[in-house]
Amino acid sequence: MVPDRILTATASDGSFSIVAGITTDLVTETQRRNALAPTASAAVGRLVTGAALLGASLKSREKLSLQIASDGPLERIIADVQLNLDRTGKEADAIGARAYTRHPGVDLPLNEHGKFDVGRAVGRGYLQVTRSFEVGQPYVGIVELQSGEIGDDLAGYLGTSQQIPSVVALGVLANPSGIKAAGGIIAQVLPGASEATIATLEERARDMPPVTSQIGGGAGVEEVIASLAGPLHMRYTREYRVAFTCTCSRARVERALLGLGSDELRKMSSERPNTEAVCEFCKTAYVVSKDEVEDLIERLSSR
Ligand SMILES: [Zn+2]
Repeated sequence: MVPDRILTATASDGSFSIVAGITTDLVTETQRRNALAPTASAAVGRLVTGAALLGASLKSREKLSLQIASDGPLERIIADVQLNLDRTGKEADAIGARAYTRHPGVDLPLNEHGKFDVGRAVGRGYLQVTRSFEVGQPYVGIVELQSGEIGDDLAGYLGTSQQIPSVVALGVLANPSGIKAAGGIIAQVLPGASEATIATLEERARDMPPVTSQIGGGAGVEEVIASLAGPLHMRYTREYRVAFTCTCSRARVERALLGLGSDELRKMSSERPNTEAVCEFCKTAYVVSKDEVEDLIERLSSR
C-alpha cells in the first residue's frame, strides 16, 4: 500500500496552488481508535483528511481545529491538526491529526450514487474552524454547511470565510473489512489569477477520477496532483509525513481536574475510589485514584 504523504505544489504560471495527500493509514487509525461504523468512518475520515491537508498551511506551534455541529445522526465531528516537532522542537515535516465523532456507530444505507451517505449522516448545520497561534487570540470562522459531504463544506469555508476560491475533494474508500484508501486534494486560486482559473479547476475536479479510486489503484500523490492540474507544469514545494497524533497526556488530565475546583474534587474523592477520564480522540483511559485526587486538592489549597 502507498504510505501516507502530503505534498504541496504551485502551478508554474502562479495561478493556483495544490495540496494533496494520501491518508489511508491516518483514517485507518482514526477508525480503529474510535470503532467507527462504515458511514461514520467515511465522514470522520473525510474531515480528518481535510484537516491534515490544511495542516500544510500551519506554522510550528499553530493548531487548527475543524468542528462540525449538525442535526444529522453524527451530530458532532471534530478534527484537529498540528505540525509534529522533533525532540529539539524543530519542525519535522510531519503532520499530526486526530478526530472523533459523538456517534461512532452511525451507519446508513448507501446513497443513490452507491456512495456512503455522508450528507445524510451529517445533515444541516455549521462548520467552525479555529486556528490557534503560538501567541494572541485564536482566529475563529463559522460557515453554514453546504451539503454535509465535507469536501463541499470545506470549500465553502475557504471561499467565503477565507475568500480563497477553492476546489476540495476528500474521499474514503471502505468495505466491511476496513479502510481501503483515503486521501484528498485542495486547489486554491492564488491572488491575481483570473476567474477562468477556478472555472477550469472546478471542471477538471468534476472530470477527474475520484481521489480514492486513484489511490486505491496505486496512484501516488504526484499523480493525484496531475489529475487535477492537467497539462500545467507543477512545481513541488513541500512534502510531509502524516500520522494519527493525539496530544492528550496525564498532565493534561490533571490540569483539567484542577480546573474543576476543590469542591468538585472533594466530592469526587468521597464518592469513588478511582476516577476514569477517557480521551475523546484516542480513547486512552486515564485512571486517577482517590489519593491522587486528594493530592490535587492539596495542590489547589497551597496555591
Ligand atoms: Zn488522546
